[in-house]
Amino acid sequence: MAEETIFSKIIRREIPSDIVYQDDVLTAFRDVNPQAPTHILIVPNHVIPTVSDVTADDEMVLGKIFTVAAKLAEQEGIAAGGYRLIVNCGADAGQEVYHLHVHLLGGRPLGPMLHRSG
Ligand code: 5GP
Repeated sequence: MAEETIFSKIIRREIPSDIVYQDDVLTAFRDVNPQAPTHILIVPNHVIPTVSDVTADDEMVLGKIFTVAAKLAEQEGIAAGGYRLIVNCGADAGQEVYHLHVHLLGGRPLGPMLHRSG
């Protein structure tokens, strides 16, 4: 059984957060430290620590993330202008919370995908 993070408490509504979508398999809530006017995290309700831990059983819920992302982008008014989905996996990607999540970012031009490192 994978270890829980703070996201499980958010999903169970044990700690406050700005939840913008929830169903039986997914929860989406605003990032506490937004990097763009819209910054929402879309999270499976069950713990999958990283992309490397994904199994075939997760395919339905992970696919649904895209449906929900598109719906939320529409609701947020960023669908026409464009937006970015990001998934960090592991230390080199800077993953901080080991409960797989997709960042939905938009509301301003987001610039190049990666900083140039040299
Ligand atoms: P990662 O770097 O793991 O891809 O992203 C983790 C994200 O979770 C960060 O953008 C961070 O601001 C956000 N985050 C961490 N703790 C909390 C929290 O308690 N509540 C909310 N809403 N976001 C959080």
